[in-house]
Amino acid sequence: MKTMTPIIPVSSHDCQLNSWKNTLKSAYKDVNQLLQAVGVKESALAYKVDSHAKFPVRVPQPYVDKMEYGNPKDPLLLQVLASSQENLDVVGYNKDPLKETELSEKSLLHKYHGRVLLILTSACAIHCRYCFRRHFPYQEKQAVGKKLAEAINYITKDSSISEVILSGGDPLMLSDESLEEIYLQLAQIKHLKRVRLHTRLPIVIPQRITSKLCNIIKQSPLKSSMVLHINHANEIDTPFELAIKKLSDINLPLFNQSVLLKNINDNADQLVALSEKLFAVNIIPYYLHLLDKVSGAAHFDISLETALQLSQTMRARLPGYLVPKLATEQAGEAAKTILS
Ligand SMILES: *Cc1c(COP(=O)(O)O)cnc(C)c1O
Ligand code: SF4
Repeated sequence: MKTMTPIIPVSSHDCQLNSWKNTLKSAYKDVNQLLQAVGVKESALAYKVDSHAKFPVRVPQPYVDKMEYGNPKDPLLLQVLASSQENLDVVGYNKDPLKETELSEKSLLHKYHGRVLLILTSACAIHCRYCFRRHFPYQEKQAVGKKLAEAINYITKDSSISEVILSGGDPLMLSDESLEEIYLQLAQIKHLKRVRLHTRLPIVIPQRITSKLCNIIKQSPLKSSMVLHINHANEIDTPFELAIKKLSDINLPLFNQSVLLKNINDNADQLVALSEKLFAVNIIPYYLHLLDKVSGAAHFDISLETALQLSQTMRARLPGYLVPKLATEQAGEAAKTILS
């Protein structure tokens, strides 16, 4: 006998959209609970976990859902699980590799011609263990009020600035109402042409892509783009695809940057698979970053030689537009350094 398919109202997905803040609140903050959720025993790991990491653990459920149950080497789990290796002091790695400490004071970073980075918040939805900002104060403070007014004033006075990059932390940690206000203020600046959002939230909590957010982006006279941060093909799943489709539907140009990470994406097959999967959902690979040498992340680093080799293999196997630029950031340079 044929069973009836239940009728799901078209808008049922939309009803859940406002729950992204709840998903954020209930993120895993405890390594043991996280391990239990993915069915991995600590004894199966190649290293000891750190249950009291100074850079706290934070992993929302939708990201955990992408992990392979029972796999102690899961490439997503390894990105977020606090490890005792983070406490090792390794020569050549320091707390502020990009010399950005002053960022905790300022909300604007103007290093490159024509583009300014606006640090809207220091908070993130997920805590990536390799993050170069892992030693910065991760208080949930936001650049609103006086600081934002100062930043807007700075951009208004410098007509060489054509693009504002909303960054953090993660700019999508702000509410839609705050982002709308920022977009409105930016739209008042005559010489400004573009707004770019640098975010990992659509991967970590896909419900963050609300209809309201899409409308703010779509209705602004400023041309927007988004740079996502995806390191592994497994991060692209159906909930993410649905979220990203809403952004493609408003013709938002989508790019991706990854960080090369040992045991996570340091092989050509993985990187090729990532590029192909990105393109399948309308995202263009943009940068492949070398790890910033931040203390606590040395165990994620790979040699420059290996990185160059990987990049070369990608070029041999993919069309040019699917090969991200191998890049690194050097303090004091006028742009990111392209290595390939
Ligand atoms: C990476 C970065 C940018 C953007 O550089 P693009 O090459 O345009 O992507 C802008 N400002 C700062 C401070 C940056 O670190
Ligand atoms: S989302 Fe980006 S800024 Fe936030 S912890 Fe991860 S790598 Fe760092």
